[in-house]
Amino acid sequence: MALERAISWIATVAAVYAILVATYGATCFAVARLNRQIAAAKIQARETPQHLIRRDQRQSLLSLFAIAAMFGTGHWLYAEFGWGLRPFGGVAGSILAFLGSLILFDTWFYWFHRLIHTPALYPWVHRWHHLTVTPVAWSNNSDRLVDNLFLQSYWLVAHFLIPAAPAVLLAHKLYDQVTGVIGHSGWEHGGSWCRPPSPLVSVTHHDQHHRYFRCNYATHFTLWDRLMGTLHPEHDAEARRNITATAAVRRTARAPAE
Ligand SMILES: [Zn+2]
Ligand SMILES: [Zn+2]
Repeated sequence: MALERAISWIATVAAVYAILVATYGATCFAVARLNRQIAAAKIQARETPQHLIRRDQRQSLLSLFAIAAMFGTGHWLYAEFGWGLRPFGGVAGSILAFLGSLILFDTWFYWFHRLIHTPALYPWVHRWHHLTVTPVAWSNNSDRLVDNLFLQSYWLVAHFLIPAAPAVLLAHKLYDQVTGVIGHSGWEHGGSWCRPPSPLVSVTHHDQHHRYFRCNYATHFTLWDRLMGTLHPEHDAEARRNITATAAVRRTARAPAE
C-alpha cells in the first residue's frame, strides 16, 4: 500500500512536470514567433544578454520541477486521502471556482511578492529573478527554490483554500503559466483585453516591475496595485501606448497584402 502510494505520488509529480515543461516550452516558442512579427514594437530598447537567457532557461527547468512537486503533492493528497474542500458542482460552479482561484492566487502572489521585496528577504530569495532587467519569455520561471516556496506554494494548499475540482486548478495553473510567459516576453501582446482601465495585467505591467522594481507586484489583475498605491504612475499611459504601438505595427505588416 505504501509502495503503491509512493508510486502514485511520483507519477503525479512527473505528469505535472511534463505538462508544465511542455506548456512553458510551447508558449516560449509561440511567443518568439509572434515577437518577430511585431519586432518594431519592442517595449525596451535594451537587449537581454545571451548568458542571462541561457541562465533563465536552465533555472526554469529546475523551478518548474519545484512547482510540479508542490502542485502534484497537493493534488495527490486530495486524490489519495480526500484532503481539501469538496468542489462546487456543475459548469457554473467550475467557472466560479476558476474565478475565485484567480482572485485568491493574485492576492497570495501580490502580498508574498511584496514581502520578498523587503530588504531582509530580497537578497537571498528574489534577487535572482530580477537580475534579468529586460525579461524574455524564458525568464518567467527563473527563480530560486526559496522564491517558489513563497510565491508558488499556493498550489500545494489550494485545495484547502477554495472548493475547486482538480481540473479547475490545473486550468488555472496553465493560465498562469501561459500568461506568465507572455508577461515576460518583452512585447505588448495584451491587446484591447488589457487596455486600462481593464483589470487584466498587460505585458507592460510586469515589464515595468523588472525595470522599476518597486511597483506592479500583482500577477493577474491590477486591482491590488491600484488599491495599495503600488501601480507605477506611468502604468496606464505606457500600457495604452504599447498596446497602440503593437496594433500599429501589426496593421503595417498586414498592409502590403491587402
Ligand atoms: Zn519582484
Ligand atoms: Zn518577472
